[in-house]
Amino acid sequence: MINEERVLKHFLELVQIDSESGQEGEFAGALVKELQDLGLQVWTDNAGEKVGATGNNVYGYLPGDLDIEPLLFSSHMDTVVPGKGIKPVIKDNVIYSSGDTILASDDKSGVVAILEALRVIKEKKCSHGPIEVVFTISEEVGLKGSKNLEYNKLKSKKAYVLDSSGDVGKIIRQAPAQNKLIFKVIGKSAHAGVAPEEGISAIQVAAEAVSKMKLLRIDEETTANIGSFKGGVATNIVCPEVEIVAETRSLDNEKVEAQTNHMIRCFQDAAKKFGAKVEYEVDKMYQGYTIPDDDMLVALVKKACDNLEIKANPTSSGGGSDANIYNGNGIQAVNLGTGMSKVHTVEEYITLENLFNCAKLTLDLMLRGE
Ligand SMILES: [Zn+2]
Repeated sequence: MINEERVLKHFLELVQIDSESGQEGEFAGALVKELQDLGLQVWTDNAGEKVGATGNNVYGYLPGDLDIEPLLFSSHMDTVVPGKGIKPVIKDNVIYSSGDTILASDDKSGVVAILEALRVIKEKKCSHGPIEVVFTISEEVGLKGSKNLEYNKLKSKKAYVLDSSGDVGKIIRQAPAQNKLIFKVIGKSAHAGVAPEEGISAIQVAAEAVSKMKLLRIDEETTANIGSFKGGVATNIVCPEVEIVAETRSLDNEKVEAQTNHMIRCFQDAAKKFGAKVEYEVDKMYQGYTIPDDDMLVALVKKACDNLEIKANPTSSGGGSDANIYNGNGIQAVNLGTGMSKVHTVEEYITLENLFNCAKLTLDLMLRGE
């Protein structure tokens, strides 16, 4: 039912509207207009002001003629860098950038699928349930748009986020929680040659802490990593301060907390042993989620995949997306593959087959597989 030529033309237009994170204003304006033209009730919030972006989250609502529960469809508007002046190129049924920018199929493949599905519904006057749409800002820089949504205005309790790499049919029904940890070890400087006993080496304290720490693969669903270790002045000065930035992730929210506490304890024990001080900050980036394999959200995608004769692939992810934030705010969500590939690189591409399948799948989900 979708119009492939229109999807392609629309996608090529959308990727040519610049929308690097924080500069989504023009793109958000274009989407507001499109949703209004499609007959949705449209509004925006003031998330841009809160996170320092030129655009705000865009919301749309289309009441249905069927009395069934509403479904939310969501993609993000922002792109990573370099995302200015994108010139898409089509070669052998694959869309690439011209090689000096990203393509922005992350996440405009999701945006175009949602808009095309809505257009078909309007055009063909399809019978449907209530449909909500949310386009978020600043996803790529810490899920900032979805963290600042007006959740009290959303009607849906179930959502599809269209924002995963991998072929259409991929269903991320499980994703980890992540905490970011910043440690500052404060020792005491002294002349390393003349009076080293008067100093406390922050490097030595931090090294002791890290050496006692469980890191990397903790168990099959939990990981931890020290990402950076900064400090030191000169060889003749006992190092007074170091800063360590680390993360831990797990599919189990409690295990993330346990690993976080373990890492804090290692620093505290080492600081105590050497008489140093430790300060730390824990940034809870996002919570993890698991949607059961037999949940309606997953079942509906499987049914849609059957209809399209493509393979459904329920799986888990090692990263976070807006779906984590929806789940943390009481809206069950899965993240779906749109076919975007090699994202966050200038080699990013998407096949026409995936681009069209994503729109077909989205339409099928909006129509609940009917
Ligand atoms: Zn994305």
